Amino acid sequence: MALNDETALLADLKARLMEIEDFGSSASLLGWDEAGFMPSAGARVRARQKARLAALTHQKATDPALGRLLDRLAAFADSLAEDSPDAALIRVARRDFDLATRVPAEYVARASEHGSASYNVWVGARPANDFAATMPYLETTLELSREFAEFFAGYEHVMDPLIGPDEGFTASEIAALFAALQAELRPLVNAIAEKPVVCDRCLHQTFPPAQQLAFATKIAVDFGYDLKRGRIDLSPHPFCTVFARDDVRITTRVKENDLSDALFSVLHEVGHALYEMGIASELEGTPIGHGASPGVHESQSRLWENIIGRSLPFWEHYYPLLQSLFPDQLGHIELDTFYRAINKVERTLIRTDADEITYNLHVMIRFDLECKMLEGKLAVRDLQDAWNARYEADLGLTPPNDTIGVTQDVHWYGGGIGGSFQAYTIGNILSAQLYEAAVAAKPGIEPDIAKGEFDDLRGWLGGHLHRHGRQFTGPVIAQQASGARISLEPYIRYLKQKYGALYGLAL
Ligand code: ZN
Repeated sequence: MALNDETALLADLKARLMEIEDFGSSASLLGWDEAGFMPSAGARVRARQKARLAALTHQKATDPALGRLLDRLAAFADSLAEDSPDAALIRVARRDFDLATRVPAEYVARASEHGSASYNVWVGARPANDFAATMPYLETTLELSREFAEFFAGYEHVMDPLIGPDEGFTASEIAALFAALQAELRPLVNAIAEKPVVCDRCLHQTFPPAQQLAFATKIAVDFGYDLKRGRIDLSPHPFCTVFARDDVRITTRVKENDLSDALFSVLHEVGHALYEMGIASELEGTPIGHGASPGVHESQSRLWENIIGRSLPFWEHYYPLLQSLFPDQLGHIELDTFYRAINKVERTLIRTDADEITYNLHVMIRFDLECKMLEGKLAVRDLQDAWNARYEADLGLTPPNDTIGVTQDVHWYGGGIGGSFQAYTIGNILSAQLYEAAVAAKPGIEPDIAKGEFDDLRGWLGGHLHRHGRQFTGPVIAQQASGARISLEPYIRYLKQKYGALYGLAL
């Protein structure tokens, strides 16, 4: 093939992929509007508009002409250096094409319709403590999740296709990693439980929303969130959404009686946003112009939210400003009291309210139950008992009802069992691993935090992680940035150092 042919084919490929990307980001814009602005009566037509865009996207993504183009470019990709962006583009586009074509459109429509029906039942069943109402839907969801896996026959574990290739870890690798983490976390959580309960009343006074938002926005900007390329709005559940590299938006919610909710959700979503804003501009409009994997993405949100945003040096710098915004509420509260309150560890029943240590125990419960359900070892009718037994064994608590038990999370009720929860804990582990590598390379990062300066940290993350986008899978990008696909030690070190000091434990 002459060079000109390859150049023309590559240009054709990029044009087709950009079309798919533009459909996808337009659908995201409709979703962003729906979540925060659309009047409720707009829902019916909005659902139709989103479905039409999804159908168009699927048509483009499975176009046989795109497959033929990728076939013709395969040899060219092999001739390029492995780290060349064009080789990565062809490789990832092939993976996406195979995925889109292996899963029949009929299945996608059926699963999506079932997901909506299941979600609507869950919305009513959760507050009514009516797990039984969701059971027939969950049974279908489980069948659909297994059916999805069958499109990728040849897997080692039925969860592997649900986790997907970007994450780069198999279910058995994750299970081994989680078992090792659990062996470390259980004694730590038990030791903390023996200590006096930390008082966090200072966070639960009345904090006017406008000041809360102003403070969170100031930190977001200090972290490097560029308001010319993004904006912060309100929605019932915080999220980050990307329409383009220069239009990365986040949302939050404000609770007048809980200072931590808006603040830490903004810091979390800003972590996701900085990743997307830092991807190399030449990757924009291509399938590699996104974050590497859900786990790596979560490592970025957790790093900014927890490792930086809940650290003592950070608050040594920012607490006086917070006090000046809320003099009546915090003027008389010592920094130490506030720092302990935002890092309170407590065994509780709700994942989304959990502290940074016990959060992982919640994730592992779900991951294990998902594996058992997918393997056919746990039936939906026994799920409630299995859930309650695991909460008793792992957290010493039995849910008094299903609203704060087995029906608390939307995930299983929105149409899928398996493939998403593990990313939260993979993210926690990677956040410490990447941060340790960053500090080893640039020791000035830590003293800078106490000055409210984050350029070196953002610069390191940008150069080693962000700019590559989705050119490499999660483990490859972690290996390149920190020398290991994934390693528990930095995370364990981080937790023991921080919580050993906070709770006076000899670890
Ligand atoms: Zn997140």
